[in-house]
Amino acid sequence: MTETIAQAKPALSSVAKISILGATGSVGVNTLDVIQQHPTKFSVAALTTNTQIDLLYKQCLKFRPKLAVVVDEKLADDFIAKFDHDDFKPELLVGSHGLEVAASLSEVDFVMAAIVGAAGLPATLAAAQAGKRILLANKEALVMSGGLLMKVVRLNDSVLLPIDSEHNAVFQCLPKGDDKCEVEKIILTASGGPFLSRPLNEFENITPDEACAHPNWKMGKKISIDSATMMNTGLAVIEACKLFEINIEDVEVVIHPQSIVHSMVAYPDGSMLAHLAYPDMRVPIAHALAWPQRISSGVSTLDLTKIGALEFSKPDSNRFPCLQLAYNALEAAESATTVLNAANEIAVEAFLNNRIRFTDIPTVIDAALQQIEHEEANDLEVILTKDQQTRVFAKNFIDRSLLRH
Ligand code: NDP
Ligand code: MG
Repeated sequence: MTETIAQAKPALSSVAKISILGATGSVGVNTLDVIQQHPTKFSVAALTTNTQIDLLYKQCLKFRPKLAVVVDEKLADDFIAKFDHDDFKPELLVGSHGLEVAASLSEVDFVMAAIVGAAGLPATLAAAQAGKRILLANKEALVMSGGLLMKVVRLNDSVLLPIDSEHNAVFQCLPKGDDKCEVEKIILTASGGPFLSRPLNEFENITPDEACAHPNWKMGKKISIDSATMMNTGLAVIEACKLFEINIEDVEVVIHPQSIVHSMVAYPDGSMLAHLAYPDMRVPIAHALAWPQRISSGVSTLDLTKIGALEFSKPDSNRFPCLQLAYNALEAAESATTVLNAANEIAVEAFLNNRIRFTDIPTVIDAALQQIEHEEANDLEVILTKDQQTRVFAKNFIDRSLLRH
């Protein structure tokens, strides 16, 4: 089991400063919600957005960060003009380079990595290089960069704390500190998304709105589609293997439609420890912000008598082919998970834009995994080249073979 994330560092004593990468997204907004409940413990050093300048402006007035980053250059002037009549104006950086600056500011203790997709990798790596405590929501960064991110974390005495609810749950159930007892396996739960019982012959006609309507979680669009295809769980398996440094055979997936048990750890004596909470991202966010202490998250304690039944079943690979594709990629060479991630991002975007069908998503990923050569991917240049190559391939494949109109 990993040394990288499990070793307790002393709790931060004074007010901890945090940079939130992707502040305007679902995880970013939830992070600010927890922070505002604890003004004596946390202050905000930097906030970033891609395009949502209205929301970033409101967040800046409320949390008064030293730095704001707007990635979309066209919006920079409009953003700064908003502060014309205010007594406060943050420093502004424009473009993606600003993300790396926000991630490595010298005064920053924590970096919340909550950008969606591969776009979050360079800044997450910068945070690791700067030795920050990283609250990792941006699972795609870890999936696409394989062992590299973990290596940079280790080399720079950085710490990764998982925000993804399954991994945060596992982290909470793993042995603590010097207790190195053996773990039998990790059991990741997955809700199964909105199409757990929809007849398979209707899958072709699933619309983006239907796929985004997750029964338990309110999340950004990309992860909502990933949950509907169960690629989210495929990415979660890869993430678990990298984060906790375990083999794929030691990770099991179970469907749990209520999303109350967030994951489990099994021990050789037959014990199984589980983490339970309402499905609300403020729980793992508060856990990681306070670790190794605890603070309130704003989420109430579970009332199991109201929930009643908790169900578990095996995933159906006919219904969710993306899960098997993720297993295939993890078992191939390192760069296969980079290919899997990039092809998935392109396919999800095409589906959201009504260019391909829901059932075409695994077809695009499978084609990319089969056609693009796999190799070891230990450095950033190889990873970014693979990522770009896959994006070009997947776009061409969609245009040539799948386009609807
Ligand atoms: P959202 O789509 O809600 O938010 C994404 C954030 O990233 C926004 O601030 C967005 O800016 C910014 N962003 C998007 N593209 C870029 C880019 N090219 N450059 C810089 N910033 C960019 O996503 P979520 O909050 O749902 O998810 C964030 C990450 O957390 C994902 O990796 C997801 O898998 C993971 N996660 C999310 C969970 C959830 O409950 N939402 C649960 C577990 C993990 P803008 O607002 O301008 O678009
Ligand atoms: Mg999750």
